[in-house]
Amino acid sequence: MKFGTKVIHAGIYPDKATGAVMTPIYQTSTYAQESPGKHKGYEYSRTQNPTRAVLEANLAALENAEYGLCFASGLAAMDAIFRLLNPGDEIVASNDLYGGSYRQITKVHERYGLKGHFVPMNDLSNIKEAVNENTRLIWVETPTNPMLNIVDIKEICDFGREAGIWVCVDNTFASPYLQNPIDLGADMVLHSATKYLGGHSDVVMGAVVVKDGAVAEQLAFIQNSVGAIPGPQDCFLVLRGIKTLHLRVQRACDNAAMIAAFLADHPKVKHVYWPGFKDHPNHEIAKSQMRDFGGMVSFNLIEDSTEAANRVLSNTAIFTLAESLGGVESLIGHPASMTHAAIPREERMKVGLTDSLIRLSVGVEDVDDLIQDLKKAIG
Ligand SMILES: *Cc1c(COP(=O)(O)O)cnc(C)c1O
Repeated sequence: MKFGTKVIHAGIYPDKATGAVMTPIYQTSTYAQESPGKHKGYEYSRTQNPTRAVLEANLAALENAEYGLCFASGLAAMDAIFRLLNPGDEIVASNDLYGGSYRQITKVHERYGLKGHFVPMNDLSNIKEAVNENTRLIWVETPTNPMLNIVDIKEICDFGREAGIWVCVDNTFASPYLQNPIDLGADMVLHSATKYLGGHSDVVMGAVVVKDGAVAEQLAFIQNSVGAIPGPQDCFLVLRGIKTLHLRVQRACDNAAMIAAFLADHPKVKHVYWPGFKDHPNHEIAKSQMRDFGGMVSFNLIEDSTEAANRVLSNTAIFTLAESLGGVESLIGHPASMTHAAIPREERMKVGLTDSLIRLSVGVEDVDDLIQDLKKAIG
């Protein structure tokens, strides 16, 4: 099955009880048993729920993995992965990372004995330098947030396999339509389903997909034992969102390409960060591991101040000033004060996350209106 068919059909069947074409929302906490232990495979909805099971099978298929597991949020999914590790284990992660991921590693898991190293992942030698005999996991995010750097997934996975270290790719920014890390050798893929998978800014959810049955079993144990599961209504919303994933993400990519070109020509714009530009430092890797360049565009201003950024941020009419990304509507954000406020200024300046940096999540509206909106706001 090709991708555009999988989003609609993979793991999805008419309901066995009624023939309903759309997966029903099984809003139940428990299931009748014929005699103790004799049941239809469902006992209690923390452990299994039919709506969730369909979504999990669909997600596994979209990423060419074997197993999918859904969690209450992207960060809850990430927490489940870290619970596969033991005190004393170490993680090497990108230094240009989703702020919440950085916070979870440094403020939660380090208290329980894990250790994180944050390095630029544009050069494998940085990873090699940070790895030691305690390293169990390499955490990759690509494209990165908000600088839109591209990391060579296959190169890192080849290294991880040889070194016996798991590689997990946070594939939230690309979505499975654009990039499939399992095909490039990743052990696990993480999604904040809140973003492109849900796609309509109406649900918070996370997912992990894996190929290995033993790892899936451990994750299912953690999913059930810790209990950070999504409800059936949310699973339905994400299933519904996924049916148009390929259409939405392609349109967002097309719109983002035109907006990036418009911004690059604007006299008040200093630099545009978008992996589709031929002079983007990792353009060739992006071309080889992604189907298109994504719907995210970041840029900074010649007048590189928070005040200058604020003038743009408060003057758009169609772009909504808000956290998050990946919905049908275009959003505009200020990473330094919003998504990345937890990262010290000194640290963010090192990666180019300056005071005037603005991040766009380009939606699927008419691109002429989006460009007009930015033109007015930048002035
Ligand atoms: C939003 C996001 C997360 C966290 O997901 P939640 O669903 O908000 O918990 C993790 N990684 C990336 C790249 C994200 O954008």
